[in-house]
Amino acid sequence: MDEFQFIDSIKQNSYNQSSIIKGIGDDAAVFRVTNSDIVTAVDTFVEGVHFTKQTMEPFHIGYRALAANISDIAAMGADPKFYLVSIVVPKQTTKNDLAQIYNGMKTISNEFKMDLIGGDTVSGNELTITITIIGQVPLGKARYRSDAKHNDIVFVTGTLGDSQVGLHLLSNDLHLDRPEYEKYIQCHRMPSPRVNFSKSLQSIERISLNDVSDGIANELREIAYNSKVSITIDDDKIPTSPNFDHFSMTKQFEWKYFGGEDFELVGTVPPRDWAKVQEAALKTDVLVTKIGTVHFNTNSIGQVFVKKGKQIQTLEKHGYIHKVGE
Ligand code: ADP
Ligand code: MG
Repeated sequence: MDEFQFIDSIKQNSYNQSSIIKGIGDDAAVFRVTNSDIVTAVDTFVEGVHFTKQTMEPFHIGYRALAANISDIAAMGADPKFYLVSIVVPKQTTKNDLAQIYNGMKTISNEFKMDLIGGDTVSGNELTITITIIGQVPLGKARYRSDAKHNDIVFVTGTLGDSQVGLHLLSNDLHLDRPEYEKYIQCHRMPSPRVNFSKSLQSIERISLNDVSDGIANELREIAYNSKVSITIDDDKIPTSPNFDHFSMTKQFEWKYFGGEDFELVGTVPPRDWAKVQEAALKTDVLVTKIGTVHFNTNSIGQVFVKKGKQIQTLEKHGYIHKVGE
């Protein structure tokens, strides 16, 4: 198959978005919008670094790569609309593998009525997928990690650590036939970005949001640092799956705070808007849990604390815990 045939094979027959003027097939794509802010991001996935063929089928590689990008758009409170894919294809990649990667992307893109509007195809040594995503949000409604304020409620969607459990099971060939563990594998291979939930928060005036791509410890630190506040969370409140305790305490701790790739959302809202967050969660069938509060104290800007019983510890980078008081 030459490049021309390949492009023809991945090209959509029709587009979901009415704003599209020119999709795949020219030097660049064109779409027209009025009265919206455009939100855009790019992410690169390299075989051996971000995924391996041992734990992911080509379909999942495509699905998850686009899911990660969609999650970034959800974390901005925006609606994903378009994506462009630049792909480096090694010689040993088969036509079918390539088709399945695009199938994975198409499957999740259809779920959100998105369109593939361009890309680039080159040969090289490592299978590498770079996705550029474009979303839209009502004027001035993009959500920033710098918007947390003293006394805000800290919340998280879904359960944490599930993707890492899935990766652990898949990498070690463990219990792959146990139905109660299917959820973890699904969560790792086909995560659900929280677009509908975040779009349902639009009536809230001020809210900070971040998606859980690197683990909640990291995401909360980004909010705390960018908002110039500190955050205290309650260890007991961190939501995990019903059989998460089948795994060692060390692993549970590592996975729920530092695991990442759950693509859930963490955020902060003023207490008066908490009911609206709960309503949005109910409406979009997403679990939402209050896990802590935001504080302003000049001595602890950018820090994240975990309360465990009577003890308070700081949550450092790379899973390192440093005790500061009782
Ligand atoms: P050009 O040489 O003008 O960049 P290409 O032959 O690279 O044109 O691409 C032709 C069309 O196909 C363009 O619309 C481009 O965006 C699209 N395209 C090329 N490669 C891919 C890809 N891997 N995925 C999606 N669209 C692609
Ligand atoms: Mg090109």
